[in-house]
Amino acid sequence: MSEPSVVERLKWLCAEIERHNHAYYVLDDPTVSDAQYDQLMRELQALEAKHPELLTTSSPTQRVGAAPLTSFTSVTHRVPMLSLGNAFEAQEVFAFDKRVTETLRAAGKLSPGAVVDYFCELKLDGLAISLRYERGLLVQAATRGDGQTGEDVTTNIRTIKAVPLRLTGDLQVIPEVLEVRGEVFMNLADFDRLNEAQRARDEKVFVNPRNAAAGSLRQLDSRITAQRPLRFFAYGWGEVGDLRFARHSEMLDWLASLGLPVNVSQHVVARGPEDLLAYYEQVGARRSRLPYDIDGVVYKVDDLAAQRVLGFVARAPRFAIAHKFPAQEATTTLLDIEVQV
Ligand code: NAD
Repeated sequence: MSEPSVVERLKWLCAEIERHNHAYYVLDDPTVSDAQYDQLMRELQALEAKHPELLTTSSPTQRVGAAPLTSFTSVTHRVPMLSLGNAFEAQEVFAFDKRVTETLRAAGKLSPGAVVDYFCELKLDGLAISLRYERGLLVQAATRGDGQTGEDVTTNIRTIKAVPLRLTGDLQVIPEVLEVRGEVFMNLADFDRLNEAQRARDEKVFVNPRNAAAGSLRQLDSRITAQRPLRFFAYGWGEVGDLRFARHSEMLDWLASLGLPVNVSQHVVARGPEDLLAYYEQVGARRSRLPYDIDGVVYKVDDLAAQRVLGFVARAPRFAIAHKFPAQEATTTLLDIEVQV
């Protein structure tokens, strides 16, 4: 039996995290910094690991995001949109690689002594979107929502110039249905200009670019979205029919060839955990010069057959992890929130 104080703390953490999820995902108006949120989540994960009898499927550690707003039409994702597990320390990256390597060796997908190839990407701090193309035409765009059901934001997405309404390339080769997933975000300079204009009009000032992007995309009036400087980078896919490529890197190159924006100049294929940490260091060193906010980098097993072997846990793939950066953003977010209150 767990002590009553543990049960109480766990209940409190669940309620507190759900409250923050609602403010962040539904209202686009967070009341604590991401670092504070992450700390609560980590405490809850640690408690649940220590007391597995207290873990329930409704715990925030088992769920993605929050339920979509009812003011938008709902879209059911045919392939769920998941979150990512995260690592803050180098040792967690080594542990991730160990789990991946051992699983792939046990499944006969990696020969003894071989190392795993990882595709490394920036983790843009925006919001996840799924774009559905049918016969090369954009027919629907949806937010992640709770991972199973998102909001239909097609009209708003159509206002983003970086999102092709029609894919380029051979329609014989493009699958009938192609769902592209990626991040909608705002550049820092555009964010500053937007806030200046908001201030001048005595309108709401946004806490950070992520919040501004989310608030802009989830407008009921798409004329407002059209005035907001939103951008998009593709990093993955949902429903695609038969996968034609063996590697994540090949698939992204192909998406770029169809006219989709892909952040190719920032991508690297790394071999083994030391290379991952080198990428993390390199990106960390140029982070402040990037035109947009990132909150970390993402490592994905590059081999798609290996990804399928690794599969998923409740809310995240086992073949990928987000390696988060400390500080910087935590302080600004917190300060901005304090100023705003
Ligand atoms: P996450 O943001 O840590 O990671 C998953 C998301 O990363 C994906 O949904 C996608 O949108 C994004 N992403 C960016 N680049 C990507 C890439 N290259 N490949 C794949 N995905 C990429 O997880 P989450 O579940 O969306 O949110 C949890 C995080 O959100 C927390 O760690 C915290 O930082 C923040 N949060 C803050 C509050 C708050 O109140 N401040 C509340 C809830 C969540």
